[in-house]
Amino acid sequence: MSGMNLSEAGTWTREDWTGFVGRLEIDGRMFVDGERRAAESGDTIDSVNPADGKKVASIARGGRADIDHAVRAARRAHANGVWGRKSPRERARIMFDWADRIEAAASEFSALDTIEMGRPIADMVEYDMPEVLTTIRFFAESIDKVTGTTTATDDSVLHYTLRQPIGVVGAISPWNYPLMMAMWKIAPALAAGNCVVLKPAEEASLSVLRAADLLREAGGPAGALNVISGVGEEAGKALGEHADVDKVSFTGSAAVGKELLRAAGDSNMKKLALECGGKSPQLFFADLPDLDTAVDAAIDGIFVNMGEVCNAGSRLLVERSIYDRFIEKFRERAAGRYVPGDPLDPGVRCGPLVDRSARDRVVGMMEGAEHEGAKKIFGETASESLTGGAYVEPTAYADVRPDMTIAREELFAPVAAIMPFDSEEEAIRIANDTIYGLAAGVWTSDLSRGHRCVRDLEAGTIWVNTFDDGDMTQPFGGWKQSGNSRDKCFESLLEYTQGKSAWIQL
Ligand code: NAD
Repeated sequence: MSGMNLSEAGTWTREDWTGFVGRLEIDGRMFVDGERRAAESGDTIDSVNPADGKKVASIARGGRADIDHAVRAARRAHANGVWGRKSPRERARIMFDWADRIEAAASEFSALDTIEMGRPIADMVEYDMPEVLTTIRFFAESIDKVTGTTTATDDSVLHYTLRQPIGVVGAISPWNYPLMMAMWKIAPALAAGNCVVLKPAEEASLSVLRAADLLREAGGPAGALNVISGVGEEAGKALGEHADVDKVSFTGSAAVGKELLRAAGDSNMKKLALECGGKSPQLFFADLPDLDTAVDAAIDGIFVNMGEVCNAGSRLLVERSIYDRFIEKFRERAAGRYVPGDPLDPGVRCGPLVDRSARDRVVGMMEGAEHEGAKKIFGETASESLTGGAYVEPTAYADVRPDMTIAREELFAPVAAIMPFDSEEEAIRIANDTIYGLAAGVWTSDLSRGHRCVRDLEAGTIWVNTFDDGDMTQPFGGWKQSGNSRDKCFESLLEYTQGKSAWIQL
């Protein structure tokens, strides 16, 4: 069985996927200046499958010298204009071709992310791959929609503005949606005409390395996209500190975001786009339109992708008059829905956490929550013996107080904190009582209340009577320590350009 495209993907069984993975030819070398190469040091990292603890591949452990090499390749490509000065239509043609090639190899990309970080294969096929393709195509379509303006000036002057590529863009991506998160950065950066050096997460680098091969096959010139795999403290840090990188676009933890801000200040004042963590609330008012729908959204909002989602709805605020019914429904409707299992089984929607250390950290936090007085009302145990895997039980705690650790810190796990409230004012106050501001959900039939919550909640995205929904037109990013920029949307393409004003005396 060879690879397959998306339309066939839904038909494969667990055995098909397991056999396919066994036959994959994996190349863990970096991609620099149009070709694969080992790290200059020769060092590698073991990529480990969190479902069974077995080694997947050796990945090149790029360091400062490799980052420097890649930045020089990107700078050269930028200066020569081999990418940024191509006509917009030609850049778009190459990007469309790139998307087609990724689509044709959808099974390979899906399998790589699943075996590296445990994302359920069904989610890869149904969600990540379509989203990756839409991302590339959306930004390819946008290339020739970037315009400048002419302004109303004195008759003796012509004034116009234009937008140009920034130059060399560094991208640093997380492991939770490995290919998709990387693509939210590299697709708009490339579409805007920049040359890119990407440092993917050390836990999951293989899919973006493979994507770089395919851009080259589609006609992407050497140096336009470089991928340096490696450890954050080494390759990531070197990229953040590099004096010839014009912008760094980062998705990851707030702690690393702050380090990058310092590195930008200490180096060349590079522009910085930060997409960081979250502790997103969902507010369930007693007048919500339909309890079953709302509870389903609460369950999916925290259990999907094992809760390893930046905008996971980890705080569920429920009006006291429906609190007991909500909990009862939660138990009833969550049962059997996210039973942990082998992520290569298309029937499984809950794989392991990304690695054993994440699992140990989360288990410790769950014990801490019980110690602080949270009441466990749901825990979905594994359907079979999953030895060696980094599995945790999807769990919900009720009677959580806003000051408990479980209500304040990002667990990045399938763990819900349910808490009661008595008034709209109190709900908004609890919801905003966080250092984060990525997203929030509101459930109500009262139109005015819905708009008031949109106005008062401190977050980049507010969903009303739905959660975790959207398309490529929707800006995605945070307030407060959730970040300072936006992914997706046409405006994110503009964030990879810089403005210029031309004032011409006639
Ligand atoms: P992380 O911050 O540990 O790592 C993210 C990336 O930064 C990785 O590539 C890592 O190698 C690199 N890195 C680590 N230390 C670095 C350093 N000192 N200098 C430069 N780079 C360094 O985060 P993670 O564990 O991979 O991802 C989880 C976090 O990402 C969560 O907080 C989550 O909420 C956040 N996230 C946010 C969004 C969003 O769009 N806002 C999306 C996905 C994930």
